[in-house]
Amino acid sequence: MKKSITPNQIKQNNRSLIYHFIYKNRKVSQQDIAYELHLSRPTVTANLSAMEEEGLIYKNGLIDTEFVGRKASAYSIVPAYRIGIGVEILKKEVKMIAVNLYGEKICRMASEIPFERSESYFRGVCGKLMEFINSFGAKDEQILGIGFAMQGLITPDKQTVLYGKILSCTGLSITEFSRHLPYPCSFIHDADSAAISELWVSPGLTDAFYLSLSKHLGAAIISKGMILDGKHGHSSTIEHIQMQPNGSLCYCGKHGCMETLLSLTALLNEGEELENFFLKVRENEPSAQKRWQFFLTDLSRAVNMLHLIYDTDFILGGYIAPYLCEEDLTFLHEQIRQMTPFPEPSDFILISKMPQHNISIGAALPYVREFLQKI
Ligand SMILES: [Zn+2]
Repeated sequence: MKKSITPNQIKQNNRSLIYHFIYKNRKVSQQDIAYELHLSRPTVTANLSAMEEEGLIYKNGLIDTEFVGRKASAYSIVPAYRIGIGVEILKKEVKMIAVNLYGEKICRMASEIPFERSESYFRGVCGKLMEFINSFGAKDEQILGIGFAMQGLITPDKQTVLYGKILSCTGLSITEFSRHLPYPCSFIHDADSAAISELWVSPGLTDAFYLSLSKHLGAAIISKGMILDGKHGHSSTIEHIQMQPNGSLCYCGKHGCMETLLSLTALLNEGEELENFFLKVRENEPSAQKRWQFFLTDLSRAVNMLHLIYDTDFILGGYIAPYLCEEDLTFLHEQIRQMTPFPEPSDFILISKMPQHNISIGAALPYVREFLQKI
C-alpha cells in the first residue's frame, strides 16, 4: 500500500531541499532557490526566514540574478553552526582539529602528550581538548561530537579498541575519554578516517582501495561510497599479509608482514626525516634512490596482489602522498604490468587528493555527515 505524505513531511522536505541547495551552491538568491527547486516564493521566503532565525543560514550580501533586473539578497549557510572535532591519538602526541559543516579547518592544535593507558593521560588529553574548543570560542551546543582516530582496529559500534598493538591499547573503552567530556565521542580506525577524508574531497568516488603509507601501513576498502568493516571489523588489514616469511619482525609478532616493507619505519633510516629523504631521492642520491626503488617495487607487488582480488582504483595516501610524483606512478604501473597476467592500463593508481590532516579531519567528518543527513 502506498503511504501518503503528510503536510508536515512536505514541510520538512522543503526545508531540507532549500538548506542543501544553499549548502551545495554556497551563495544563492531566493529567486534561484524558487526557480531551481520549483517551489513557490512564499514557501521559500517562509523557510529562509525560519532558518535565518535559527542561525542555520545568513544573508551574505547581494548577488546577480537573471530573474529580476537588479541584485538580490544572497543566502549562505552558516558553516560553523555545528562543528565536528577530530583527534588523532599517536604514541608521542595528540593532534586535534575542528571542522565546520563544509569539513573545512577552523582550528588545529598538536600537543606532545605521550600515550599512556592511565587515568592521568585520559584526563590530560580531555583537558587539552576543552582548552582547544574554548580557544576558538565554540559553545557546547555547537560541538557535534569528537572522533578519536586510533592506530588500531575498532569494534563496529565504535566504542572499543578491538586490536591496538601499536599503542598497547587493546580493549580500551571510549568511556575513558567520554566521561571527561560533555560531547558524544567515538573511536575510528585511522586508515578509515583517512579514507573518509578522501571520500569527502572526491564526491564522485564510489569504489577504491585506499592505502595509507605513513609511519605505519594501513588500508581501507571503499565500496559504494562506504568503508567496508567486515564481519569482525578487520577487513582490509593488509598490513599483516605476509610477504617474506623470513623478513623483519612486525609489531604483530609475525615476520615479513607488508608493514615491515611498506611503512615509513621500513623506508627511513633511524632519525631520518621524510622531507630530507625525498630531497635526496629527487637529487638522484644513489643510496636513497635505491631504497626508494626497493620500496616502490614492494609496493607494486602489494598493489598487484590486492588488485587481482579487487579490480578497482588504488589511492596512495598517508604521509608519503605529498612527495609522490608522476614518475613514481609510471614506475608502479610498469612493474605491475610485468607481474600480472592481464593487460593492465596505467590509470588505476592515484595519489590522494587530501594529503594533509586527513586522519584527524576524517575522524570529525562522520559527525558532520550525520548532521547534514538529518537536516
Ligand atoms: Zn604483522
